Amino acid sequence: MKSGINCRRKCRRISSPGSFKFYVINGYDVAEKTGMGGRMNTIMQTAFFAISGILPKEAAIAEIKHTIEKTYGKRGEAVVQKNFEAVDAAVAAIYEVKVPAEATSKTRRRLPVPNEAPEFVREVLGEIINSNGDNVPVSAFPVDGTFPTGTTQWEKRNLALEIPVWDADLCIQCGKCVMICPHAVIRHKVYDEKHLAGAPETFKHVKSKFKEFSNGYAYTLQVAPEDCTGCTLCVEICPVKDKTAVGRKAINMEPQPPLREAEAKNWDFFMKIPDLDRKLINPSTVKNSQLLRPLFEFSGACAGCGETPYVKLVSQLFGDRTVIANATGCSSIYGGNLPTTPPGAGCQRARTGVVELAVRRQRRVRFGHAPHH
Ligand code: SF4
Ligand code: SF4
Repeated sequence: MKSGINCRRKCRRISSPGSFKFYVINGYDVAEKTGMGGRMNTIMQTAFFAISGILPKEAAIAEIKHTIEKTYGKRGEAVVQKNFEAVDAAVAAIYEVKVPAEATSKTRRRLPVPNEAPEFVREVLGEIINSNGDNVPVSAFPVDGTFPTGTTQWEKRNLALEIPVWDADLCIQCGKCVMICPHAVIRHKVYDEKHLAGAPETFKHVKSKFKEFSNGYAYTLQVAPEDCTGCTLCVEICPVKDKTAVGRKAINMEPQPPLREAEAKNWDFFMKIPDLDRKLINPSTVKNSQLLRPLFEFSGACAGCGETPYVKLVSQLFGDRTVIANATGCSSIYGGNLPTTPPGAGCQRARTGVVELAVRRQRRVRFGHAPHH
């Protein structure tokens, strides 16, 4: 049993000591040590059954192992054994935390959204993010049921243990990493060098290699550190290999915490640099299309989502004329959920949106046509 874990004040306040048991497991650590990479389901499922008492612990673990054999048996004994090791390591890594009678922690949760967020985001969406939605008065909600869009930009989820870091000298400015990012977290910009005035010290830039925008133009590839999910797709797709270091590319994953503060400032500076006029951009190549601002950003899709890069691309190509008619499924959950919604950020006329209809496909198609008539 461990004590003295740095529990935030709020979690102490909502609990009375003795009325519950508190367990912790570092699932990422178990996954890494047992070679499971980012796959956490076996580990967390084991942890749940090991402490919940829903089934006797030994019976639950035997059942989990039996299921592993059935599911992964065709992939060979090594895969089965690796999963068995993850189960055993998960059980060994769970520890109980002794909850002291008094709340002495000085650690507080940061605000759910920053102070500079719009009033509705602070007073309604922020309260919902803070699990305080039941206390928001009905009068605070819009009478017609519409919600502001583009609000995911305020919800900094800080999910990633590692984020991509750009090697400006190796990069060929192909834009593939920007294209594949499911969350519009990594972006590139070509801009007049005069906009570099006042850049933070750690802000990276090089001369633009775009032939249409060369003389006097700078180029930056920037990551939003608190919005990245750490999925690594951007690194996987990068075509440039560092000939001096095996395994390194023009973009590489590095631990997020030491980079977070500086990169958040760099991101803010980057976003204030004006986008190129979209009339000057021929979007028929990957690198050029990714100069267009995405109007679908920081969605709550799973890390590595295979759908959202396409939704994002449609929003880049068609801009604020995009309307997406959607039935239910994943696309509802990442595209039109609460408290924050990803479509429409940075959109002047706020027309881009995902409209929802949980009906049969045929009606969905008719519904999708309606906004154009
Ligand atoms: S790690 Fe994933 S979410 Fe983060 S920037 Fe790369 S592709 Fe986007
Ligand atoms: S994929 Fe690699 S080379 Fe291409 S823009 Fe991204 S970091 Fe640069």
